[in-house]
Amino acid sequence: MEDTIEKRRRLEKYFDPKGPFASLRLAQMRRSWKQANRRELNWWENSYLPSVISGIFLTSKHFFYNVTFHILHLFGIAKKTKGAVTYQYPENPRPLASRLRTRHRLMKREDGSPRCVACMMCETVCPARCIEITAAGHPDPHIEKYPAEFILDLGKCVYCGFCVEVCPEDAIRMDTRRLDTAEYSRGSMVYDKKRLME
Ligand code: SF4
Ligand code: SF4
Repeated sequence: MEDTIEKRRRLEKYFDPKGPFASLRLAQMRRSWKQANRRELNWWENSYLPSVISGIFLTSKHFFYNVTFHILHLFGIAKKTKGAVTYQYPENPRPLASRLRTRHRLMKREDGSPRCVACMMCETVCPARCIEITAAGHPDPHIEKYPAEFILDLGKCVYCGFCVEVCPEDAIRMDTRRLDTAEYSRGSMVYDKKRLME
């Protein structure tokens, strides 16, 4: 019974002409009306020529606009108006912002071993659950633990940077300036400790 009353209340709120859903309902009605009254295309529209012509017009417009401004810039004119720029990736990669988070790396100590102390903070904080650490006792008595294995699945990572921020040892960074992590299989996107330290 309570469910029915609640449902009715919600419906009344939805259909209230001055309620918060009024504009949404109007848009839905307009869309349904358009769908129901969709007219047949005439022979001219069916030939696709209007669409082809408008496509060519739009492409040409952008082409001539950009060419004109790039030529003017060569002579030092109209510098404030920018023309479109195409980066010839991968030969000419786009400049990256200095604070951009890029592929992870594990920092090393002077002897080449990982700086990570396997505290599991990054694994715990990771919202995508893409870090998996296997801790082991460190041979050096001054260091409690080290990661016997450190797995990071870049296929799941959302590049939030939480792992970097939370690390007490500055052992993981996202400053490799590498974004081209595309692979042919999901498995190849799983980075182990060796790959992360390269
Ligand atoms: S960047 Fe975010 S999602 Fe990626 S490993 Fe670090 S904490 Fe997880
Ligand atoms: S937070 Fe830092 S020290 Fe701790 S497990 Fe992660 S990388 Fe290692």
